[in-house]
Amino acid sequence: MRKITIAVDGHSSCGKSTMAKELARELQYIYIDSGAMYRAATLFALRNNLINNGQVDQKTLISKLDQICIEFKYNESSQKADTWLNGENVEEEIRQLPVSQNVSPVATIKEVRQKMVALQQAMGQEKGIIMDGRDIGTVVFPDAELKIYMTASEEVRAQRRYDELIGKKQDVSFEDILKNVRERDYIDQNREESPLRKADDALILDNSNLTPVEQLQWALVKANEIIQQ
Ligand code: C5P
Repeated sequence: MRKITIAVDGHSSCGKSTMAKELARELQYIYIDSGAMYRAATLFALRNNLINNGQVDQKTLISKLDQICIEFKYNESSQKADTWLNGENVEEEIRQLPVSQNVSPVATIKEVRQKMVALQQAMGQEKGIIMDGRDIGTVVFPDAELKIYMTASEEVRAQRRYDELIGKKQDVSFEDILKNVRERDYIDQNREESPLRKADDALILDNSNLTPVEQLQWALVKANEIIQQ
């Protein structure tokens, strides 16, 4: 069976990773969460005091980029890949609000993006990969055989992220989450370097009214059509 590359892009918190992970499991493909890489770089910047009141010290961060080592390691107990930063498992910490609130400004930096894109392209050399993010179908894998552009209404997305964080016993308010979703969408769509946009050949998946099972079925049908061509 031939292996393809699947690019999943879209707005914040629209369920890209849920769908991409399940699709990867069904197809026995590798799943890569590119957002986790920008989150890990942001955590590095926060820990090195390179972000103050939302202002990133770009020059210093760029000079320290070669000190950032990001890896994904399979976790037997959760049966998922965890994100590691410089030898430390940071999977939990990169999902918390301080990182979410600062990741989009960090992701606007050209040199940060160049480093992440090079790593992502190296991971996809063998195909049989599903990667989700903001620029996967447009910049990282412009030749991907299947591109999916996902979205859902802001309120639906904020509610899903809120439920997820509350489920993890984090002390967050719905208003803060909605504000964060709006801000990240705005920055991601309006930045100069590879802004979030739908690739011309991407299929749109609006999952506002779809269950996870329905959206997975939809994606599986599309993927299998292409794999069997
Ligand atoms: O996917 P997730 O919401 O975890 O991504 C966190 C942030 O990383 C996004 O809001 C966006 O600013 C940035 N990002 C990006 N390009 C990607 C993936 C994520 O700019 N390919």
